[in-house]
Amino acid sequence: MKRPAPLVTALLLVTALSLRAQGPDNGELRFALLRDLVLPGEPLTAIIAGFPGPPPEGEFRAVLVAGGSRLAAAKFFSLDGEEGGLPCMAAVLAVPSTARPGPALVRIEAGSAAAGELALNIGERSFLTEEIPLDQANTDIRTKPDPRKTEEAALLWSILSRTGKTIYSMGPFVPPVSSTRRTSFFGDRRVFIYTDGSRDRSIHAGVDYGVPTGTAVRACADGMVVLAHSRIVTGNSVVLEHLPGVYSLYYHLDRMAVSEGQIVKSGEMLGNSGSTGLATGPHLHWEIRVSGENTDPDALVSHPVIDREAILGKIEL
Ligand SMILES: [Zn+2]
Repeated sequence: MKRPAPLVTALLLVTALSLRAQGPDNGELRFALLRDLVLPGEPLTAIIAGFPGPPPEGEFRAVLVAGGSRLAAAKFFSLDGEEGGLPCMAAVLAVPSTARPGPALVRIEAGSAAAGELALNIGERSFLTEEIPLDQANTDIRTKPDPRKTEEAALLWSILSRTGKTIYSMGPFVPPVSSTRRTSFFGDRRVFIYTDGSRDRSIHAGVDYGVPTGTAVRACADGMVVLAHSRIVTGNSVVLEHLPGVYSLYYHLDRMAVSEGQIVKSGEMLGNSGSTGLATGPHLHWEIRVSGENTDPDALVSHPVIDREAILGKIEL
């Protein structure tokens, strides 16, 4: 057999080193990404396999790095111990919708030490631009300082940045309404025009369904209600936790039918759509957060969040 060129040998060695590292009790850990091409706004699952015993909790993190910047980070959680569990840990990251296309890497960190690196590519994706003129009431909601708004934002962030331990659903998710009429899309680059003519930019974090007030809004997957109350900007709001670091959000509801702490099944009614909070008309805003980052809901409707088959394929490598 022909000897591989030195450069190829070096590359093979680097790849092998990046996939295997010495773990606790001298076990050999294996790292893998379930996909190596991801678009802005899409989720990305990293796994660690090869623990000699039960995987340690909360010790490992996956950090997405591109262009020298840290774009996202997620804690690993155990998939072992669940019914039909897998002997590995997973971390679910999301590529921000603002990420530039090009090569990137996921760095696996054990405590403060780097344990390995996995290469991937961020693909190119374009988003729509929309201009939204706001009336006085909606202009006030966005521009008037209010300590309650700051408190509400801090509380929501404390929930969305939490990585729990319970797996309620591995997905795929189902849309929360049967209508397919969308009035805004994930990642839309928005320009709000205030009553005084000034402008402000923002990125739409979810999908808007243009449904009449009173439309049944249903859970997109099994989960736990972690927030159900009225907020200034988002009106009557419900947030569900589905698995560690993965949440779905339902905004501007006319009526809420669930309370915090309640366990819900996929398709269970959460309330009725409306136009409470900052809304230019009745609609449902549906949003997914993965480790705090806005994530394209369609990416989780078409694929499971935790893809058992893909993980088994990687574990048996
Ligand atoms: Zn929206």
